[in-house]
Amino acid sequence: QLKQLIESWSPQQELAKKEEGHRLSLDELRRALEQDQLLPWYQPKVSFSSGKWVGMEALARWQHPQYGLIPPGRFIPLAEHNGLIDQLTEVIISKSLRDGHLWEETGLSLNLSMNLSTTSLIEGDLCNSLLDQCQRWGINPELITLEVTESSFVQDVGKSLEVLTRLRMHGFGLSIDDFGTGYSSMQQLALLPFTELKLDRSFVDHCYADPSRQAIIESSIELARKLGLKSVAEGVEDEMTWRFLTELGCDVCQGFFSARPMPPCELKRWHAAWKESFHKLGGTAITVH
Ligand code: C2E
Ligand code: MG
Ligand code: MG
Ligand code: MG
Repeated sequence: QLKQLIESWSPQQELAKKEEGHRLSLDELRRALEQDQLLPWYQPKVSFSSGKWVGMEALARWQHPQYGLIPPGRFIPLAEHNGLIDQLTEVIISKSLRDGHLWEETGLSLNLSMNLSTTSLIEGDLCNSLLDQCQRWGINPELITLEVTESSFVQDVGKSLEVLTRLRMHGFGLSIDDFGTGYSSMQQLALLPFTELKLDRSFVDHCYADPSRQAIIESSIELARKLGLKSVAEGVEDEMTWRFLTELGCDVCQGFFSARPMPPCELKRWHAAWKESFHKLGGTAITVH
Protein backbone atom coordinates (compact mmCIF):
# COMPACT_ATOMS: atom_id res chain seq x y z
CA GLN A 1 0.00 0.00 0.00
CA LEU A 2 2.76 2.37 1.03
CA LYS A 3 4.77 1.40 -1.99
CA GLN A 4 1.77 2.15 -4.19
CA LEU A 5 1.37 5.53 -2.55
CA ILE A 6 4.99 6.38 -3.21
CA GLU A 7 4.86 5.09 -6.76
CA SER A 8 1.74 7.05 -7.54
CA TRP A 9 3.76 10.19 -6.88
CA SER A 10 6.78 9.10 -8.82
CA PRO A 11 7.00 10.01 -12.46
CA GLN A 12 6.75 7.04 -14.77
CA GLN A 13 9.89 6.89 -16.78
CA GLU A 14 8.67 6.86 -20.31
CA LEU A 15 11.17 4.37 -21.47
CA ALA A 16 11.31 4.17 -25.19
CA LYS A 17 9.45 1.05 -26.29
CA LYS A 18 9.89 1.68 -29.99
CA GLU A 19 13.61 1.89 -29.69
CA GLU A 20 14.10 -1.40 -27.86
CA GLY A 21 14.77 -3.45 -30.95
CA HIS A 22 16.93 -0.76 -32.45
CA ARG A 23 20.67 -0.68 -31.98
CA LEU A 24 21.64 2.89 -31.21
CA SER A 25 24.52 3.85 -33.47
CA LEU A 26 27.65 5.78 -32.76
CA ASP A 27 26.54 8.45 -35.24
CA GLU A 28 23.33 8.93 -33.29
CA LEU A 29 25.25 9.30 -30.04
CA ARG A 30 27.61 11.83 -31.62
CA ARG A 31 24.62 13.77 -32.87
CA ALA A 32 23.04 13.57 -29.42
CA LEU A 33 26.11 15.19 -27.92
CA GLU A 34 26.22 17.86 -30.64
CA GLN A 35 22.51 18.58 -30.37
CA ASP A 36 22.46 18.58 -26.61
CA GLN A 37 20.07 15.65 -26.10
CA LEU A 38 21.71 14.34 -22.94
CA LEU A 39 20.61 15.51 -19.54
CA PRO A 40 20.69 14.48 -15.89
CA TRP A 41 17.73 13.09 -13.99
CA TYR A 42 17.97 12.95 -10.22
CA GLN A 43 17.32 10.18 -7.72
CA PRO A 44 16.86 11.48 -4.17
CA LYS A 45 18.72 9.89 -1.24
CA VAL A 46 17.17 9.85 2.22
CA SER A 47 18.39 9.06 5.71
CA PHE A 48 17.15 5.71 7.05
CA SER A 49 16.92 6.99 10.60
CA SER A 50 15.36 10.43 10.10
CA GLY A 51 13.80 10.15 6.66
CA LYS A 52 15.50 13.42 5.81
CA TRP A 53 16.27 14.19 2.19
CA VAL A 54 20.06 14.30 2.24
CA GLY A 55 21.07 14.41 -1.40
CA MET A 56 20.62 12.99 -4.85
CA GLU A 57 22.47 11.23 -7.61
CA ALA A 58 22.61 12.69 -11.11
CA LEU A 59 21.88 9.95 -13.66
CA ALA A 60 22.30 10.44 -17.39
CA ARG A 61 19.30 10.22 -19.71
CA TRP A 62 19.11 10.62 -23.48
CA GLN A 63 16.10 12.51 -24.68
CA HIS A 64 15.91 11.08 -28.17
CA PRO A 65 13.76 13.04 -30.67
CA GLN A 66 12.22 9.83 -32.07
CA TYR A 67 12.55 7.19 -29.39
CA GLY A 68 11.89 9.20 -26.24
CA LEU A 69 13.83 8.82 -23.03
CA ILE A 70 16.68 6.29 -23.17
CA PRO A 71 18.34 4.95 -19.99
CA PRO A 72 22.16 4.96 -19.62
CA GLY A 73 22.51 1.19 -19.80
CA ARG A 74 21.75 1.55 -23.52
CA PHE A 75 24.32 4.22 -24.37
CA ILE A 76 27.05 4.37 -21.70
CA PRO A 77 28.78 1.23 -23.04
CA LEU A 78 28.63 2.66 -26.56
CA ALA A 79 30.20 5.89 -25.30
CA GLU A 80 32.83 3.97 -23.33
CA HIS A 81 33.91 1.87 -26.29
CA ASN A 82 34.16 4.80 -28.66
CA GLY A 83 35.97 7.43 -26.68
CA LEU A 84 32.89 9.56 -26.01
CA ILE A 85 32.46 8.77 -22.33
CA ASP A 86 34.51 11.66 -20.97
CA GLN A 87 32.61 14.15 -23.09
CA LEU A 88 29.31 12.63 -21.99
CA THR A 89 30.27 12.63 -18.32
CA GLU A 90 31.38 16.23 -18.59
CA VAL A 91 28.01 17.24 -20.07
CA ILE A 92 26.13 15.55 -17.23
CA ILE A 93 28.41 17.00 -14.57
CA SER A 94 28.17 20.57 -15.87
CA LYS A 95 24.40 20.34 -16.27
CA SER A 96 24.00 19.01 -12.72
CA LEU A 97 26.20 21.76 -11.33
CA ARG A 98 24.03 24.28 -13.15
CA ASP A 99 20.92 22.65 -11.63
CA GLY A 100 22.67 22.67 -8.25
CA HIS A 101 23.21 26.40 -8.66
CA LEU A 102 19.50 26.92 -9.35
CA TRP A 103 18.56 24.91 -6.25
CA GLU A 104 21.01 26.83 -4.10
CA GLU A 105 19.31 30.02 -5.26
CA THR A 106 16.01 28.70 -3.92
CA GLY A 107 17.69 27.84 -0.59
CA LEU A 108 17.99 24.12 -1.26
CA SER A 109 21.52 23.05 -0.37
CA LEU A 110 21.78 19.33 -0.94
CA ASN A 111 24.59 16.92 -1.54
CA LEU A 112 24.88 16.06 -5.23
CA SER A 113 26.44 12.78 -6.36
CA MET A 114 27.87 12.31 -9.82
CA ASN A 115 29.31 9.33 -11.62
CA LEU A 116 32.82 9.58 -12.95
CA SER A 117 33.71 7.63 -16.05
CA THR A 118 36.29 4.90 -15.93
CA THR A 119 38.87 6.88 -17.90
CA SER A 120 38.37 10.31 -16.33
CA LEU A 121 40.66 9.42 -13.43
CA ILE A 122 43.62 8.68 -15.61
CA GLU A 123 43.14 11.06 -18.55
CA GLY A 124 42.76 14.82 -18.73
CA ASP A 125 42.68 17.18 -15.82
CA LEU A 126 39.57 16.19 -13.91
CA CYS A 127 40.40 18.01 -10.71
CA ASN A 128 40.93 21.44 -12.27
CA SER A 129 37.98 21.10 -14.58
CA LEU A 130 35.72 20.22 -11.62
CA LEU A 131 37.09 23.08 -9.55
CA ASP A 132 36.56 25.53 -12.43
CA GLN A 133 32.96 24.41 -12.84
CA CYS A 134 32.22 24.57 -9.11
CA GLN A 135 33.60 28.09 -9.07
CA ARG A 136 31.58 29.04 -12.13
CA TRP A 137 28.34 27.91 -10.49
CA GLY A 138 29.24 29.00 -6.97
CA ILE A 139 29.07 25.49 -5.55
CA ASN A 140 31.10 24.33 -2.58
CA PRO A 141 32.97 21.10 -3.53
CA GLU A 142 32.00 19.73 -0.11
CA LEU A 143 28.46 19.41 -1.46
CA ILE A 144 29.66 17.21 -4.32
CA THR A 145 30.24 13.47 -4.05
CA LEU A 146 32.07 11.77 -6.89
CA GLU A 147 31.13 8.15 -7.43
CA VAL A 148 33.73 5.84 -8.86
CA THR A 149 33.52 2.13 -9.53
CA GLU A 150 36.30 -0.18 -8.52
CA SER A 151 37.12 -0.98 -12.13
CA SER A 152 37.98 2.67 -12.78
CA PHE A 153 40.97 2.73 -10.49
CA VAL A 154 42.33 -0.76 -10.90
CA GLN A 155 43.58 0.35 -14.34
CA ASP A 156 46.20 2.61 -12.80
CA VAL A 157 46.11 2.67 -9.02
CA GLY A 158 49.00 5.12 -8.69
CA LYS A 159 47.49 7.78 -10.92
CA SER A 160 43.99 7.22 -9.48
CA LEU A 161 45.33 7.59 -5.96
CA GLU A 162 46.96 10.87 -6.89
CA VAL A 163 43.82 12.30 -8.56
CA LEU A 164 41.43 11.09 -5.86
CA THR A 165 43.62 12.45 -3.09
CA ARG A 166 43.78 15.82 -4.81
CA LEU A 167 39.99 15.88 -5.20
CA ARG A 168 39.52 14.93 -1.56
CA MET A 169 41.91 17.68 -0.46
CA HIS A 170 39.71 20.20 -2.25
CA GLY A 171 36.70 18.95 -0.30
CA PHE A 172 34.96 16.64 -2.78
CA GLY A 173 33.35 13.57 -1.24
CA LEU A 174 34.42 10.26 -2.79
CA SER A 175 32.15 7.27 -3.07
CA ILE A 176 33.02 3.72 -4.00
CA ASP A 177 30.07 2.76 -6.23
CA ASP A 178 28.65 -0.75 -6.71
CA PHE A 179 30.76 -1.95 -3.78
CA GLY A 180 31.42 -5.65 -3.86
CA THR A 181 31.10 -6.17 -7.59
CA GLY A 182 34.63 -5.17 -8.64
CA TYR A 183 38.13 -6.35 -7.88
CA SER A 184 40.43 -5.87 -4.89
CA SER A 185 37.86 -3.90 -2.91
CA MET A 186 39.67 -4.23 0.39
CA GLN A 187 43.03 -3.15 -0.97
CA GLN A 188 41.53 -0.09 -2.68
CA LEU A 189 39.58 0.79 0.42
CA ALA A 190 42.70 0.81 2.51
CA LEU A 191 44.63 2.92 -0.01
CA LEU A 192 42.17 5.45 -1.33
CA PRO A 193 40.62 8.40 0.53
CA PHE A 194 36.94 7.43 0.24
CA THR A 195 34.17 9.04 2.28
CA GLU A 196 31.27 6.79 1.28
CA LEU A 197 30.62 3.15 0.53
CA LYS A 198 27.76 2.34 -1.80
CA LEU A 199 26.36 -1.15 -1.47
CA ASP A 200 25.47 -2.63 -4.82
CA ARG A 201 21.88 -3.30 -5.71
CA SER A 202 22.58 -6.98 -6.30
CA PHE A 203 23.25 -7.46 -2.56
CA VAL A 204 20.65 -5.00 -1.31
CA ASP A 205 17.64 -6.31 -3.20
CA HIS A 206 15.56 -8.43 -0.77
CA CYS A 207 18.63 -8.92 1.44
CA TYR A 208 16.47 -9.70 4.48
CA ALA A 209 15.28 -12.91 2.82
CA ASP A 210 18.67 -14.35 1.91
CA PRO A 211 21.28 -15.36 4.50
CA SER A 212 24.31 -14.81 2.29
CA ARG A 213 23.18 -11.37 1.12
CA GLN A 214 22.40 -10.58 4.73
CA ALA A 215 25.93 -11.50 5.76
CA ILE A 216 27.52 -9.45 2.98
CA ILE A 217 25.35 -6.42 3.71
CA GLU A 218 25.86 -6.62 7.45
CA SER A 219 29.63 -6.86 7.23
CA SER A 220 29.85 -4.13 4.59
CA ILE A 221 27.92 -1.72 6.81
CA GLU A 222 30.17 -2.66 9.71
CA LEU A 223 33.24 -2.20 7.54
CA ALA A 224 32.03 1.25 6.44
CA ARG A 225 31.41 2.23 10.05
CA LYS A 226 34.84 1.09 11.18
CA LEU A 227 36.52 2.95 8.33
CA GLY A 228 34.51 6.08 9.09
CA LEU A 229 32.63 5.95 5.77
CA LYS A 230 28.99 6.73 5.16
CA SER A 231 27.06 3.63 4.05
CA VAL A 232 24.57 4.01 1.22
CA ALA A 233 22.25 1.24 0.04
CA GLU A 234 21.33 1.34 -3.62
CA GLY A 235 18.25 -0.47 -4.92
CA VAL A 236 15.99 -0.52 -1.86
CA GLU A 237 12.67 -1.46 -3.41
CA ASP A 238 10.39 -2.62 -0.62
CA GLU A 239 9.44 -1.88 2.96
CA MET A 240 11.01 -5.03 4.43
CA THR A 241 14.38 -4.16 2.92
CA TRP A 242 13.99 -0.59 4.19
CA ARG A 243 13.28 -1.82 7.74
CA PHE A 244 16.03 -4.40 7.67
CA LEU A 245 18.67 -1.84 6.62
CA THR A 246 17.36 0.68 9.14
CA GLU A 247 17.89 -1.88 11.89
CA LEU A 248 21.40 -2.64 10.67
CA GLY A 249 22.22 1.06 10.98
CA CYS A 250 22.80 1.73 7.29
CA ASP A 251 23.02 5.51 6.80
CA VAL A 252 21.45 6.43 3.49
CA CYS A 253 18.80 4.89 1.25
CA GLN A 254 18.71 5.27 -2.51
CA GLY A 255 16.04 3.15 -4.11
CA PHE A 256 12.66 3.00 -5.79
CA PHE A 257 11.09 2.50 -2.35
CA SER A 258 11.77 6.12 -1.45
CA ALA A 259 12.24 7.67 -4.89
CA ARG A 260 12.81 6.89 -8.53
CA PRO A 261 15.08 8.99 -10.70
CA MET A 262 13.10 12.02 -11.91
CA PRO A 263 13.49 15.28 -13.80
CA PRO A 264 14.26 18.28 -11.59
CA CYS A 265 10.74 19.70 -11.89
CA GLU A 266 9.33 16.66 -10.03
CA LEU A 267 11.56 16.92 -6.96
CA LYS A 268 9.40 19.28 -4.94
CA ARG A 269 6.29 17.18 -5.40
CA TRP A 270 8.20 14.01 -4.55
CA HIS A 271 9.52 15.58 -1.35
CA ALA A 272 6.06 16.49 -0.09
CA ALA A 273 4.80 12.96 -0.78
CA TRP A 274 7.86 11.34 0.77
CA LYS A 275 7.51 13.27 4.03
CA GLU A 276 4.00 11.93 4.33
CA SER A 277 5.07 8.36 3.50
CA PHE A 278 7.91 8.43 5.99
CA HIS A 279 5.59 9.69 8.69
CA LYS A 280 3.32 6.71 8.05
CA LEU A 281 6.30 4.34 8.04
CA GLY A 282 7.29 5.50 11.51
CA GLY A 283 3.86 4.60 12.79
CA THR A 284 4.44 0.86 12.43
CA ALA A 285 6.65 -1.20 14.71
CA ILE A 286 10.03 -2.25 13.37
CA THR A 287 10.36 -6.02 13.47
CA VAL A 288 12.82 -7.77 11.24
CA HIS A 289 14.82 -11.04 11.75
P1 C2E B 1 24.84 3.57 -10.72
O1 C2E B 1 25.76 4.71 -10.62
O2 C2E B 1 25.10 2.39 -9.85
O3 C2E B 1 23.39 4.19 -10.47
C1 C2E B 1 22.34 3.54 -9.81
C2 C2E B 1 21.41 2.86 -10.79
O4 C2E B 1 20.51 2.04 -10.05
C3 C2E B 1 20.53 3.83 -11.58
O5 C2E B 1 20.29 3.25 -12.85
C4 C2E B 1 19.24 3.84 -10.77
O6 C2E B 1 18.11 4.20 -11.51
C5 C2E B 1 19.18 2.38 -10.36
N1 C2E B 1 18.35 2.18 -9.17
C6 C2E B 1 18.33 2.90 -8.04
N2 C2E B 1 17.46 2.40 -7.16
C7 C2E B 1 16.89 1.33 -7.75
C8 C2E B 1 15.89 0.37 -7.32
O7 C2E B 1 15.34 0.43 -6.22
N3 C2E B 1 15.57 -0.60 -8.20
C9 C2E B 1 16.14 -0.70 -9.44
N4 C2E B 1 15.77 -1.69 -10.22
N5 C2E B 1 17.09 0.18 -9.85
C10 C2E B 1 17.46 1.18 -9.03
P2 C2E B 1 20.48 4.05 -14.21
O8 C2E B 1 20.01 5.47 -14.07
O9 C2E B 1 19.89 3.22 -15.30
O10 C2E B 1 22.06 4.11 -14.38
C11 C2E B 1 22.80 2.96 -14.64
C12 C2E B 1 24.27 3.21 -14.58
O11 C2E B 1 24.72 4.06 -15.64
C13 C2E B 1 24.72 3.93 -13.30
O12 C2E B 1 24.78 3.02 -12.23
C14 C2E B 1 26.09 4.45 -13.72
O13 C2E B 1 27.06 3.45 -13.62
C15 C2E B 1 25.87 4.75 -15.20
N6 C2E B 1 25.66 6.21 -15.35
C16 C2E B 1 24.52 6.92 -15.20
N7 C2E B 1 24.75 8.24 -15.42
C17 C2E B 1 26.08 8.36 -15.71
C18 C2E B 1 26.94 9.48 -16.02
O14 C2E B 1 26.54 10.64 -16.06
N8 C2E B 1 28.27 9.20 -16.26
C19 C2E B 1 28.76 7.93 -16.21
N9 C2E B 1 30.06 7.75 -16.45
N10 C2E B 1 27.97 6.87 -15.90
C20 C2E B 1 26.66 7.07 -15.65
MG1 MG C 1 26.47 5.81 -9.16
MG1 MG D 1 25.81 2.31 -7.94
MG1 MG E 1 24.82 -0.06 -9.53
